[in-house]
Amino acid sequence: MTDRTLIRNAKIITCSAPGTDSAPGTGTGPAVIADGDLLIEGDRIARVAAGRIEIDSGSARVVDLHGATVLPGLGDAHVHMSWPLDFVFDHVAVANAPAAPHALDVAAVARTFLESGYTLVVGAGVSQPLDDVRTRDAIERGLIPGPRVVPSGTMITERGAISADTGMTTVVSDARDLREAVSRQCDTGVRALKLFVSGDGIVPEYPSDDLYMNDEMLAAAVDEADRYGAFITVHARGSDSVAMAARTGVRVIHHACFLDDKAVRELEARRDDVWVCPGLHYLYAMVSGHAEPWGVTAEKIERSGYEREFRAQVEGIGLLRAAGIRILAGGDFGHQWTRHGTYAAELQRYVELVGMSPQEAIDTATRNLGPLVGLDVGQVRAGHLADLLIVDGDPLVDITVLQDPDRRRAVVKGGEFAYVNPRMFP
Ligand SMILES: [Zn+2]
Repeated sequence: MTDRTLIRNAKIITCSAPGTDSAPGTGTGPAVIADGDLLIEGDRIARVAAGRIEIDSGSARVVDLHGATVLPGLGDAHVHMSWPLDFVFDHVAVANAPAAPHALDVAAVARTFLESGYTLVVGAGVSQPLDDVRTRDAIERGLIPGPRVVPSGTMITERGAISADTGMTTVVSDARDLREAVSRQCDTGVRALKLFVSGDGIVPEYPSDDLYMNDEMLAAAVDEADRYGAFITVHARGSDSVAMAARTGVRVIHHACFLDDKAVRELEARRDDVWVCPGLHYLYAMVSGHAEPWGVTAEKIERSGYEREFRAQVEGIGLLRAAGIRILAGGDFGHQWTRHGTYAAELQRYVELVGMSPQEAIDTATRNLGPLVGLDVGQVRAGHLADLLIVDGDPLVDITVLQDPDRRRAVVKGGEFAYVNPRMFP
């Protein structure tokens, strides 16, 4: 018999559009169910109902939530699982660390994501080539706890561009080179490839407005990735790099700090097939001096131009929302000033700095991600995978509830309780 779990007496944030079939049988249910039940069969959600679901007693395990909140498991679209829990900024040291202890570091990060309510991560570049792929495999084999992983590979950059001389990137010169690099990574199992198409003010020799690669190269990368069912993501901070990525078929544009009219128009033209992942909390933390104890001085921040970038990004997210471009939560968590486990701070910034409603902010980590990764995830909805987060309190009233480990009751992944808070259920 299929495993059945009935979750009772829950507030359910479905993250489905009002009027869709997320609510119970009627086809016209609300996006939020104040008091409902949810039936899981196997790894999927079988029913979601306002009020009680009546089933034969004894045919399901019953978990009474006494009014706690259920929402879809969260997702982060810009993840570096390679960065250990104690990571500061030394990328080269992590890239050259002995493989065995490093793998354990990565496993600890995978567990941290899951325990933080994250059931899905999209890689944004690794420090050692197979970090994401091997971790994904270990999670799928049940060796270690962790989220669903769309694995990334080594970051790809152009000869002479940012990070090309670090020895920890794949360096390409032209479209043919790039196509080969994409193909090689996909052969190892990588499905989210990460390319640098702009600089980054934090490395002053490679300013954010720098443009790397060209249309021909990106089109080739997109085409090659397509053949594997993979997709291209780019580090693109300046508006020219965003416009180029949008018009060449790149799927995820990270940062997009500066946006001119042209970039917004190119994004609009691909509205159904492109996502932007800003990483706002990271910039916020940097310009707020949170990195200072680790040597990122006010002077270094000044030189990076991050202050201007931060203001531009806040404004840019407004432009993206107005244009109907889907935004994805995510962004370089894992430094000591944006520590692993604090991932949902990104949602707090969207509410506090950009003026999103808590629901809209939660959508960036849930329903916006499902179509990107091609999985039925990100909504509490019959037929979808049962990836859920259960918290005390109401994130629609206070978004920071999602950051509080003490309010996290449990995380369900594929219908199983993958994490249960030991402090809450001794
Ligand atoms: Zn990153």
